[in-house]
Amino acid sequence: MLSYKSGLVECLNNCGIETVSPFAFSKNTTYGLGGFAAAGYFPKTVYQAKSVYDNLISCGASFNILGNGSNVLVADSGIEGSVISTKKLRGIFRLNKTDLLCLAGTQIGELLTYCKKNRLSGLEYLYGIPATVGGAAFMNAGVCGLGIGENIKSVCVYNGKKHILSREMCKFAYRYSTMRDINALILSIILTVRESDAGKIEERINFYRQRRVHLPKGKSCGCVFKNPENFSAGYLIDSAGLKGLRIGGAYVSCRHASFIINSGGTAADVKNLINLVKNKVFEKFGVLLSEEVVYIGDFNGING
Ligand SMILES: Cc1cc2nc3c(=O)[nH]c(=O)nc-3n(C[C@H](O)[C@H](O)[C@H](O)COP(=O)(O)OP(=O)(O)OC[C@H]3O[C@@H](n4cnc5c(N)ncnc54)[C@H](O)[C@@H]3O)c2cc1C
Repeated sequence: MLSYKSGLVECLNNCGIETVSPFAFSKNTTYGLGGFAAAGYFPKTVYQAKSVYDNLISCGASFNILGNGSNVLVADSGIEGSVISTKKLRGIFRLNKTDLLCLAGTQIGELLTYCKKNRLSGLEYLYGIPATVGGAAFMNAGVCGLGIGENIKSVCVYNGKKHILSREMCKFAYRYSTMRDINALILSIILTVRESDAGKIEERINFYRQRRVHLPKGKSCGCVFKNPENFSAGYLIDSAGLKGLRIGGAYVSCRHASFIINSGGTAADVKNLINLVKNKVFEKFGVLLSEEVVYIGDFNGING
């Protein structure tokens, strides 16, 4: 990838696009870790998002896309390029009885509040996931075998041209969508919900809220590892006796072994601990865990 081009920050800023330079990943990720990017762009409209994308591409500037940063581990050295943050690209529009169009940066919490207010059901299982709708679609986030893909009718992505991907084209699977394999910016998503009554919606939210009560507190990315077929990653890590294992300021949570918590550590601490956990689980059970967390930047040879 080509390096970041100076001058672009002023140019896009002058066009009314919110910009920061440099962009601190530690302030924009739930791990609170990672170095800097040269700049961060915060488009508020689809028009601005496309404009940032087009300008970065036409300057040959490298960039990463970030939602809430709740599923990423960014290297301590940061990245050379810049970041398109979708955090401010928010909005929910009711298209008809059952379809909602959400801009990519809409928060899951905001979406559930909207649904509750308008007595729309079907998304309650997303309660507590600290994601943007775009990040959730990208990861097919969910719980209890459910993923947001089941409620997605279509996804609008941009890579210099707009494309509408139907649910079938997104090929949703466990923590997977086609969007992971294409280099494109998710602009908006159409979600399907159903009309319901307030009591039932509250009941369903309470069910999912209750399930999250015991999740670890502290800075994390949620579950670091995907569950291998027929196993729970947390169970394997716990059974290998790794709860509480620590490297520097990173440790394996004693509440949920698939969570690695940052308490004053570095991204290198977290990455080294991930590698150690993978090695120990493999030695003990012959199962190679794979990460759900997405790595950004160069981890200087700290390989899995
Ligand atoms: C406390 C905690 C609990 C969690 N619980 C759950 C859970 O129960 N279930 C679950 O599935 N996950 C969970 N997660 C993980 C995380 O919230 C999800 O993976 C979520 O979908 C990430 O969304 P995000 O907006 O933060 O995306 P980010 O972390 O910012 O990005 C994740 C990936 O998506 C890409 N991306 C984001 N937005 C766009 C876009 N608009 N266009 C193109 N690419 C994009 C990024 O480039 C990156 O590769 C949890 C995390 C935490 C911290």
